[in-house]
Amino acid sequence: MKGMAMLPDDTTCALCSESIWIRLGPESGAESDEDANMLPEPSASASRRVVAEDDDEQVVPDDVILHDCPAGHHFHWQCFLSHTEPETYCPACHVAVIPPDDDDARLLATIRNEGGQEDDFDLRPVLIEERLFATAPQLRTHAALCSACFTGDEASVLDILSNPSLSPPETTHLLNTPDTDKHWTPLFYAAVAGHAGIVAFLLNNGADPNHRDRFEHVPAQYASEEGHAEVLDLLRGARSVY
Ligand SMILES: [Zn+2]
Ligand SMILES: [Zn+2]
Repeated sequence: MKGMAMLPDDTTCALCSESIWIRLGPESGAESDEDANMLPEPSASASRRVVAEDDDEQVVPDDVILHDCPAGHHFHWQCFLSHTEPETYCPACHVAVIPPDDDDARLLATIRNEGGQEDDFDLRPVLIEERLFATAPQLRTHAALCSACFTGDEASVLDILSNPSLSPPETTHLLNTPDTDKHWTPLFYAAVAGHAGIVAFLLNNGADPNHRDRFEHVPAQYASEEGHAEVLDLLRGARSVY
């Protein structure tokens, strides 16, 4: 029955040929076979309607539409991100969607997903980051670590840094690698957000409290600006012995 649910239209992804419409189960994410069986049979009059509001199941788009593809190709988000064309071409029809030599050109697209619709989304930074991650997977780990430090997710910080596939020098390297944006190491993210437990943990594992970012600031400056006294004490103490 699963493939029988009504879809709003028959738009397909130009890379994998599957429908751009995906079905989200009930909130619990539990098996929904029973619910699927209770869907009304698709009929001619109803086949172009979105599923009824009181239905447990939701049909949502996973859709990327390049503004400058003349064919109006649609893509799934993941299919689009994993394509191998340079970001200046439509991966389906290979037409140039931005001038190949213009490094500042934006790759505008309409993005539709369960969160809604965004009409002028610049895909280029996302694609560049994806490619960077593909060539250097440790950057993805680094991004995850920075994010966990910022949100105060101690479990994830511990998880990432105790990954058995990382050697101690690799762990230290991960801790002291700056990101490409502000040249912040994970310690900056934990410091600015005031997560003392994570700051202490990073320092104990070899994070450099004297690392300077793009603005020549050290993490302690952000902790001070934000009024995180405990974090500031930790960083000052570490700086004096480092
Ligand atoms: Zn696809
Ligand atoms: Zn195209």
